[in-house]
Amino acid sequence: MLIGAMNHPAREVLQEIEWIAAMGLGFLDLTLEPPKAASWKVDRRAVRNALEQHQLGVVGHTAFYLPIASGIEEIRQAAVTELRRCIEAFAEIGARWMNIHPDRHAPMHDRGFFIQRNLETLGELLPYAAEHGVGLMIENLPGDFNTAGEVGELLDPLPALGLHLDIGHANLLVTHSTVDELLGAYGPRLRHVHLHDNKGGAADLHLPLGSGSVDLRSAIRQLQRTGYDGTITLEVFTPDQHYVRYSKELLQRVWEEERR
Ligand SMILES: [Zn+2]
Repeated sequence: MLIGAMNHPAREVLQEIEWIAAMGLGFLDLTLEPPKAASWKVDRRAVRNALEQHQLGVVGHTAFYLPIASGIEEIRQAAVTELRRCIEAFAEIGARWMNIHPDRHAPMHDRGFFIQRNLETLGELLPYAAEHGVGLMIENLPGDFNTAGEVGELLDPLPALGLHLDIGHANLLVTHSTVDELLGAYGPRLRHVHLHDNKGGAADLHLPLGSGSVDLRSAIRQLQRTGYDGTITLEVFTPDQHYVRYSKELLQRVWEEERR
């Protein structure tokens, strides 16, 4: 199991790599988002070199707000263009997996419409990603894509698509965490994990581990039962990096305790 962190999109990627390496983390969850980490701006070679120099791995993350299910075809195509550029960037930087957030922002349309549009976009991108040696994975989101049934509407028709499990999101807008059902149904397709805390309800707080209502121990037990031993990003958004360090130590400790 490898613990990593995400760069802040408003800061220089190369500087973000420095603190992530200094904290002894194992990989960068590289989000390609403007203003400072835009797919068209990041110096791919420099990022690759910095990662190699610090012996850091890398996982690809894309902007959560891309309108991949837009009811306006030209806007959907613009999102596809951006995601193709992300695939090219991640191929050069050396990421083997790239995440995509499902989109439900198609007002006045029913669920069937935006499911179809998500599938269309993913279906267009999967072969392009494969040509570049990059796999695509879909992240569960509170609201419309958080249960096994909901995420399955995208995973079932597209066998090449991986699951990116966000344990924090699985705790939001639900009566109890959906980690068990997501792993029960799609555990073998799990490719990457996001971990952060919150207090349930609708607020996606991205708190340090242990400070909210996410059952960390249960989630880790289920990851281990699935046989997962891959990358886990501490998606803890805080100006004080002590909270990231604390989260890392807590995750390491609970992971070891549950392995015994
Ligand atoms: Zn996430």
